[in-house]
Amino acid sequence: MSTISIEEFRQEVRSWIDETLPSDLRVGNRKDLPKKSLSKWLKALIERGWGAPDWPVEYGGGGLDRQQAAVLKSELKRVRAPFVKSFGITMLGPTLLEFGTEEQKREFLPPIARNEVKWCQGYSEPGAGSDLASLQTRAVRDGDEYIVTGQKIWTTGADVADWIFCLVRTDPDASKHEGISFLLFPMKQPGVEVSPLKLIDGSADFSQVFFDGVRAQAKHLIGPVNGGWTIAKRLLQHERSTDGGSEGGITNAPKETLVDVVKREVGVENGVLADAAMRQRLAEQEIEQRALRLTMRRAAEQARAGQTARDIGSLGKYRWANMVKEEQDIAMLAFGTRGLGWDGSGVESGQLDRTKAWLTTRADSIWGGTNEVQLNVIAKRVLQLPE
Ligand SMILES: Cc1cc2nc3c(=O)[nH]c(=O)nc-3n(C[C@H](O)[C@H](O)[C@H](O)COP(=O)(O)OP(=O)(O)OC[C@H]3O[C@@H](n4cnc5c(N)ncnc54)[C@H](O)[C@@H]3O)c2cc1C
Repeated sequence: MSTISIEEFRQEVRSWIDETLPSDLRVGNRKDLPKKSLSKWLKALIERGWGAPDWPVEYGGGGLDRQQAAVLKSELKRVRAPFVKSFGITMLGPTLLEFGTEEQKREFLPPIARNEVKWCQGYSEPGAGSDLASLQTRAVRDGDEYIVTGQKIWTTGADVADWIFCLVRTDPDASKHEGISFLLFPMKQPGVEVSPLKLIDGSADFSQVFFDGVRAQAKHLIGPVNGGWTIAKRLLQHERSTDGGSEGGITNAPKETLVDVVKREVGVENGVLADAAMRQRLAEQEIEQRALRLTMRRAAEQARAGQTARDIGSLGKYRWANMVKEEQDIAMLAFGTRGLGWDGSGVESGQLDRTKAWLTTRADSIWGGTNEVQLNVIAKRVLQLPE
C-alpha cells in the first residue's frame, strides 16, 4: 500500500511521463503515431505496470488504487499520450479478477496486461442481441473439454483476435438465464470461421463467427457451469463504464477539441462566435460533459467507499453515447457542405471530410446494449421501478 499523497503521486506520474514520453507522441491522432516511438513508449508503460494500472502487481498490473489510476489516466490524457485500451483490459480482466480461479487469473491476466493477446467478445447472435439470454450457441462437455457449435454476430475484432470470451448454452433444458456458461477458448483453431461484415463506411471491424465442433478446455470455463449469466452481466457493466469501450488498440486524446473546430470553421467576429445557435449547442454540450464527468466521479467515489454503484455505468453509457453523437452533429453543421467528404477521420484530424466520423458515432448508441436497453436498466436498477 502506497504511503504517498495523491498530489505527490501526480507529481511522480508527471515527471515520469516527461522523462519517458517521446515528443512525437504528444501530438497527432492514433492513425499517424510513429511506430518506433509508440512501441518504445508502450513497452515502458507496460513495464511500469501501467498497462493495467489498478490490477494487482502479481497479475501484471500496477497495484494502484482507483484514485491513483484516475490520476494516471488524466495525466496521460493531459499530454495526449497513447495508452493501451483493449477488451482484455477494460472488460475481461476486471471480470476475471472477480470470478476467476487463482489458476485462471495467473494464466490469463499477465498476457493481457502486457498487451500480448487480443480478445474478442462472443455475446450477440442473430436471434439474441438486446434479448441476450436467448443465445443458442451450444457447448457440450466431452472429457476435459467442451465442444462448441453455433454462431455469433457483430463480433468486433474477431478477424484478428487470438481468444474469445464467449457465452454458450450448457443446459438447453434450464430457463434461458440459467443454462448459460462463460467460456474462454482460442480463435485460431479448426472449426472457427470468421466472416467480416462490411459496413457503410467501408470498414469491416466486426464479423460473423461460426463455430463447428470447436474445442475449449473445461478448465477455461469461468465461474460455475450454468452460472454464466451473472458473469456476463458484470462484464457488461465494465463495458458500459468505459467510454468508447468498443474500440480496441491504442488510443489517445484528439488533437483538437470540438470548440476549437467550431471556432475555426464557423469563425469568430469581434470575439464572438458567428453562429448564435451553435454557441447554445456548445454550451449545452459543455453542461452535459461536466455533469457526466461529475456523476462518473461520484460513482467511482461510491465504489471506493464500498457502496455499489455499478449500474451507474448504464447511465454513463447512455449519456456518453448521446453526447458523442451530438458532438458529431455539431461538427457536421460547422463544416457545412465541406464536411461531406469521405476519407478523413473527423474531429480528430480536423479535416474537412466528416461523413465517416459522423456515421461511426451512430453505432455508439447500439454497442454494449442499445440506448433503449440502458434506459431499461436504469429504470429497473437505479430507479428500482417495477417492470
Ligand atoms: C459498433 C458495434 C460493436 C459491437 N461489438 C460487439 C461485440 O464485439 N460482441 C458482441 O457480442 N456484440 C457486439 N455488438 C452487438 C451489439 O451488442 C448489439 O447490436 C446490440 O446489443 C443490439 O442487439 P441487436 O443488434 O440484435 O438489436 P435488437 O436487439 O434486435 O434491437 C433492435 C431495436 O429494438 C430495440 N429493443 C429491443 N429490445 C427492446 C426492449 N426490451 N425495450 C426497448 N427497445 C428494445 C433496440 O433498442 C433496437 O433499437 C456490437 C454492435 C455495434 C454497433
